[in-house]
Amino acid sequence: MSVTVRFAPSPTGRLHIGNIRTAILNWLFARKEGGRFLLRFDDTDLQRSKEEYVVAIREDLQWLGLSWDEEARQSDRTARYDAVAEQLKAAGRLYPCYETADELDRKRARQLARGLPPIYDRTGLKLSDEDRQKLESEGRVAHWRFRLANTEGADSLTPLPTLINWIDVIRGEQTVDVGSLSDPVMIRADGSYLYTFTSVIDDIDLGISHIIRGEDHVTNSGVQIELFNALGATPPQLGHHSLLVAADGQALSKRLGALSIASLREDGLEPMAVVSHAALIGTSDPVEPHTDVAELVELFSPSKISTAPARFDPAELATLNAKLLHELPFSMVADRLKGLRIETDEAFWNAVRGNLEKFDDVKEWWSVVAGTVTPVIEDAAFATRAAELLPPEPWGGNTWSEWTKAVKEATGAKGKSLFHPLRLALTGREAGPELKVLLPLIGRPRALARLQGQAA
Ligand code: GLU
Repeated sequence: MSVTVRFAPSPTGRLHIGNIRTAILNWLFARKEGGRFLLRFDDTDLQRSKEEYVVAIREDLQWLGLSWDEEARQSDRTARYDAVAEQLKAAGRLYPCYETADELDRKRARQLARGLPPIYDRTGLKLSDEDRQKLESEGRVAHWRFRLANTEGADSLTPLPTLINWIDVIRGEQTVDVGSLSDPVMIRADGSYLYTFTSVIDDIDLGISHIIRGEDHVTNSGVQIELFNALGATPPQLGHHSLLVAADGQALSKRLGALSIASLREDGLEPMAVVSHAALIGTSDPVEPHTDVAELVELFSPSKISTAPARFDPAELATLNAKLLHELPFSMVADRLKGLRIETDEAFWNAVRGNLEKFDDVKEWWSVVAGTVTPVIEDAAFATRAAELLPPEPWGGNTWSEWTKAVKEATGAKGKSLFHPLRLALTGREAGPELKVLLPLIGRPRALARLQGQAA
């Protein structure tokens, strides 16, 4: 079977680490199976959907390197939804209801008070044409519910336990009892469609083979399978991944603003760190940085995705980002370094990458080798002696050890008391990349000046 999956965000906000995980799992699945990955904007909620979010979602996906093969927008497809709605109305699967939200609340409260499940009582199904006319003449406008197939016969209105089963590609055997659910509203009184409805029509029309989404949609899947069946379509295979929780186990939802992809990008995180993290948390694979997405494609399998909530800790992402930078080869950063006006070669990058947490930290180390440093001199006599012993250029891989050997012999300093003052003088910093590699990059004139206490 050819694989087609979709990522279907509602453009009502920015993408965050939680929904990007859904996108990445779908994307990896498509690439692994040689299939297609579609981007669908679920923008039927016209009040909350905004064009700026459509643009931002595309930008975020592009930044992460998640290219899509086709784009669809629900707001372009109203005519198709209208046609399907007419078909389901004619078949008696969509029926009009007239209760207000308040009336429904009161009904539920009464049911609960009597110890009954708060399921919609299908009053709408009992209305005659005259009843409807009367309600409409009072100014009421119908909303439409989908009649779940959960009764003994079409005439009975009393729902019976009705199990919808599927083998979830992530969670294994799944069951939803649609006998315990209210007939869901599919068309609001203002004529707008609910996502449950439009999504199924799109999934049919776009040939979606697998729906991979969060486990908050499991119950929805029971209803949607009924809708696929009502439309004579075979439901796609379903996979529901667990949701992200904060490191303390609490829901992430409140903190998601800070975890938007835009804010991670502004914080200077590497896209491949975000992708690696989102692809691997909550799976049986170790959460490690991958510089090449092909490795993540290779690793991906729905069966590796855990059903337990995946814990997201921003500190872990920061660590992963640093680890990724420490591994990045010069060839992958040469252009970015040029963009920062760092005209350098592999030796500099290899010397400093192990000290970076964010890519931009490289600017600091570039200023140490090619800019101005205010040296820290704790013992002027020691520094002067070390300056006198600086060997003549050219400098190379052995310069540091030859020079420090000479300084050690001349001053008697060794270990930390030899190396630490030299580091403070040469770099103005307590810690940093190996001086063996930095020293030749700093060069003799700067090293000499710094040892003499001059900013250079
Ligand atoms: N727009 C829906 C959401 O963001 C899509 C769910 C689905 O993948 O079907 O929750």
